[in-house]
Amino acid sequence: MSNLFQLPCPWCDAKIEISLRQAGQTLSCTGCEKDVEAPKLGEIKKLPPSESSESSASNGRRASSRGAGGKGATSTTRNGLFTAGLALAVILGGAGLGLHMYARSLHTPVDIQEQVELTREEIHSLKPDQIYGLATAMTKNEELGEFSEPPFLKDNIQGSILTWIAWGLYALGGLGLLMLLGSFFVR
Ligand SMILES: [Zn+2]
Repeated sequence: MSNLFQLPCPWCDAKIEISLRQAGQTLSCTGCEKDVEAPKLGEIKKLPPSESSESSASNGRRASSRGAGGKGATSTTRNGLFTAGLALAVILGGAGLGLHMYARSLHTPVDIQEQVELTREEIHSLKPDQIYGLATAMTKNEELGEFSEPPFLKDNIQGSILTWIAWGLYALGGLGLLMLLGSFFVR
C-alpha cells in the first residue's frame, strides 16, 4: 500500500526503510538503534525506493516510528485480511466439500465384466428377427444406440468434472487460509 524508501543512517551503514507517513518523525535505526530524524515529505520522495514492499514490514525490518498514528491503517489491513481469509476458507472450503460429496454420490463403479454380461443376456433374450433388426439399425445409423452410452457413464464424467471443480475450490479455500494466517504477521 504505502511505498517504502531507503534512508541511509547517518551513524552506521544501515538503510532504514521509511514510509511517507513517517516524514519529520524521530525514528530509531534498525542497525545501530540510534535516533534518526526522518526528512520532510519532499526529501523522502527523492530517496531510492525500497525493493521490498509491504511484505517486508512483517519481518519487522521497517524502522519503528516513535510518533503517534500509523497504527490504525495496518490494523484495518490486518482485520480485513483476517475476515476475507476466514470467509474464503470457510465458504470455498465448504462449497468444495459439498460439491465433492455430491460428485461422489454420482459416481457408479464401472464393472465392465458385468456390463458385458448384461448386454449378452439382453441379446440372448431377443428373438432372431429382433437381433437382425437391431444389427441392421446399427449399421444404418453407424452408432450403437442405447448400448453405446449407459447412463452411469455420463454421471461418472459429470462426477469427475465436479470433483475437479471441488479441488479448485479447495485450492482457493487454502488461499483464504493462507490470507488468514498471513494477517497475524501484519504489524
Ligand atoms: Zn544506524
